[in-house]
Amino acid sequence: MGLEGKVALVTGGSRGIGRAIALRLASDGADIALCARNVEAAQSVGREVEALGRRCLVRQADVSHSDQADELIKAVVGEMGSLYALVNNAGITRDNLLMRLKDDDWDDVLRVNLKGAFNCARAAARPLLKARGGRIINITSVVGLQGNAGQANYAASKAGLIGLTKSLARELASRSITVNAVAPGLVPDTGMTDELSEDVVDGMLANVPLGRPGTPTDVAHAVAFLAAEEAAYITGQVLSVDGGMAM
Ligand code: NAP
Repeated sequence: MGLEGKVALVTGGSRGIGRAIALRLASDGADIALCARNVEAAQSVGREVEALGRRCLVRQADVSHSDQADELIKAVVGEMGSLYALVNNAGITRDNLLMRLKDDDWDDVLRVNLKGAFNCARAAARPLLKARGGRIINITSVVGLQGNAGQANYAASKAGLIGLTKSLARELASRSITVNAVAPGLVPDTGMTDELSEDVVDGMLANVPLGRPGTPTDVAHAVAFLAAEEAAYITGQVLSVDGGMAM
């Protein structure tokens, strides 16, 4: 997809979908920056990126803290020389039914999934505006489009991310910066879905018209498309990668 010489930052790039996005963008030619709270896991992905012949900067950062997001973007621009694409992928779940959701369950999920994306986008806006171009890609979820019993906090954070995406798309369009969201469906075998029982996964799969779960690579392909020059005229959109769940 021709990303040679461009720098992409993937938050939560230490495993699962974020790792697949980092490796896909690197194989398209981008140099990569990664962050996570557990820096050792991110460093291991960093070595995989370097094995593809690309530079990789790895930083420990909790995106829910605006000072850490600011430092992260500063480090990317300072050490990698520029920033072209921000992929807001870091996310968590704290699932429970409404009556059992604790204040912390609500606050933690909103703080990481929604405020984290806002923190990183606000910090990245300066270098992107200066460069008069770039990409912001937010990883939302089918749950942000459809809701899900037991995930009110997560659904609200992911629906909020869609509103953030559309607002930033309007704000930044005049400088040729596109802002889009990718909405994965069920992607098992990541840290996020480890706790789901086989029964729950099978129940969800029954609602996937294409009849199979998604893979981190399926999601990474969509991110790579939106990051590419060929997607320059697409902004404010939500691209579902869910086997048809949300059609
Ligand atoms: P995952 O395996 O749990 O990975 C989450 C990543 O985010 C990890 O690298 C984690 O590293 C990082 N992270 C979590 N909190 C962070 C914070 N405060 N600051 C910085 N990094 C943080 O999850 P995944 O399944 O790959 O999910 C990736 C994204 O896809 C999430 O936004 C998720 O909501 C979305 N998604 C997933 C699915 C699915 O079925 N898996 C479906 C739809 C959407 P540390 O823990 O070390 O910080």
